Amino acid sequence: SPKLLALCSISSGGLIAYADSPSDVVGESKTSVNNQIETKRRKRVLVLGTGWAGTSFLKDLDISTYDVQVISPRNYFAFTPLLPSVTCGTVDARSIVEPIRNIIKKRDGEIKYWEAECLKVDHESKKVLCRSNIDSNLVGSNEFSLEYDYLVIAIGAQVNTFNTPGVLEHCHFLKEVEDAQRIRRTVIDCFEKAVIPGLTDEERKTNLHFVIVGGGPTGVEFAAELHDFVHEDLVNLYPSVKDLVSISVIQSGDHILNTFDERISSFAEEKFQRDAIQVLTGHRVLSVSERMIDMKAKSTGQNVSIPHGMVVWSTGVGTRPVVKDFMEQIGQGYRRILATDEWLRVKGCDDVYALGDCATVDQRKIMEDISTIFEAADKDNSGTLTVEEFKEVIEDIIIRYPQVELYLKNRHLFDVTDLLKDVNGKDREEVDIEGFKLALSNVDKQMKSLPATAQVAAQQGAYLAKCFNKREKCKIEPEGPRKFGSDGRHDFRPFQYRHLGQFAPLGGEQTAAELPGDWVSMGRSTQWLWYSIYASKQVSWRTRFLVVGDWSRRFMFGRDSSRI
Ligand code: FAD
Repeated sequence: SPKLLALCSISSGGLIAYADSPSDVVGESKTSVNNQIETKRRKRVLVLGTGWAGTSFLKDLDISTYDVQVISPRNYFAFTPLLPSVTCGTVDARSIVEPIRNIIKKRDGEIKYWEAECLKVDHESKKVLCRSNIDSNLVGSNEFSLEYDYLVIAIGAQVNTFNTPGVLEHCHFLKEVEDAQRIRRTVIDCFEKAVIPGLTDEERKTNLHFVIVGGGPTGVEFAAELHDFVHEDLVNLYPSVKDLVSISVIQSGDHILNTFDERISSFAEEKFQRDAIQVLTGHRVLSVSERMIDMKAKSTGQNVSIPHGMVVWSTGVGTRPVVKDFMEQIGQGYRRILATDEWLRVKGCDDVYALGDCATVDQRKIMEDISTIFEAADKDNSGTLTVEEFKEVIEDIIIRYPQVELYLKNRHLFDVTDLLKDVNGKDREEVDIEGFKLALSNVDKQMKSLPATAQVAAQQGAYLAKCFNKREKCKIEPEGPRKFGSDGRHDFRPFQYRHLGQFAPLGGEQTAAELPGDWVSMGRSTQWLWYSIYASKQVSWRTRFLVVGDWSRRFMFGRDSSRI
């Protein structure tokens, strides 16, 4: 039996056993080396999280070579870009989620899933402590621990209140499916309360003042959805209060959608003005109470208070406590967010990977790395390289940092000949290292950290799965760039993000899009592009049918305003 075989141990070239216990033995593989049988325990890969990053990793991982376990308190994958549509019933919550067990069932192998939350990562003993989040009187312990050989942390981020008083108690968030459902119910509550007899007009107005804090893509999309819901559906059902409804967006920066192209940002502001959505830019929220929101106008320094019926807080994300604790353990406690290298390995822990919103690829020391590459290439310490050596070094730098290529292109340096001219001034046999470093001196300043988006998370998951699938092969034939200061190459090419564009739905069947190649598109036709891309990106045919069905239902019958 494979279990028995694995327990025997014969020295190198014979039968090798790696099993910690018989139950750990789950696989058997034949190596071509010496035609001898080698049975070994498959390496345990533990994945934390079933969001964009975790699911994309699981979908592409070759599970025949690993023993894969997944932990997440959410037993489904949620298509978050459609969450704002759930807040107003344009799309049903169940249409945008796919049970994680459906996803893993499709893989021809065994992935174990446990519905639990990771409480602590113990890096020293390679264990994680977990607690089941099933809130019931069922018997049995809720806590358990799991061991790993490789840990993939993909637990996303949590809402960031910036410690603003009253936000946790009095604001809604838009991060999870439950948040979107809660918002939907509260919007209906605000309308039902506003039409109750005996209220003054001022009270009705307060109940119908919807405030969104944060003018980023999520806040803006929610404001637009809410405006459509109110004006296409609710005013017909609550005609007596239709003139008392107001929507405000509070933004600390000077413009909404300030990560988008300026044209999109202005288009959105103009559209909101036409729709009577009030945009308060340059205002910082100081505190939120049950009925009031206090803020400071940056230009005048004056404090302003406005009454509200409901506040949605959408101002960015922060680090989860379990990741913070892990960062303390590995000496990253001083950082705001967990740092990985370009291979998505957590800095300082070779067997732990982090992807998606919970981590950032540390790209701040590109110039330092470039200097190290040059020092390694400049074997005689002359401060110069031959043209051939220089070309090889450039190739390595660009593989490691694809952004450098973009930077050089932006400076109209399209190939090595252009670059040599720029560095040397004229054609020469050798290249001055300091001159080249000068040519790149601004590269660090232009590197932006990757945005916290589903696009980045999904691409990172797919990239990491590819690395895991090729791990054995690459040990023998590494394919990545040269290693600094030593012979040989890295096993893999570093992660390279491909930006495929971003959308900003603005309501009234109008969307703005920023597409690759600086192409900006706005209006109704872009809305149809949005419909087709979001339908095609659904994780399964089931959710694709449901989402398209919901959109058709909304076109035909409007949105449902029942409070369920
Ligand atoms: P998540 O998708 O958040 O997944 C985290 C996973 O970890 C979840 O399964 C969670 O249950 C699990 N988890 C949490 N805590 C633990 C724990 N302690 N132990 C184990 N598991 C845990 N991005 C875009 O690119 N385009 C968009 O249009 C877009 N729209 C968005 C709209 C909204 C309303 C929101 C909230 C986000 C939107 N985003 C969009 C951003 C995108 O959703 C995130 O960047 C993406 O979800 C990050 O993926 P992730 O896998 O890192 O985290």
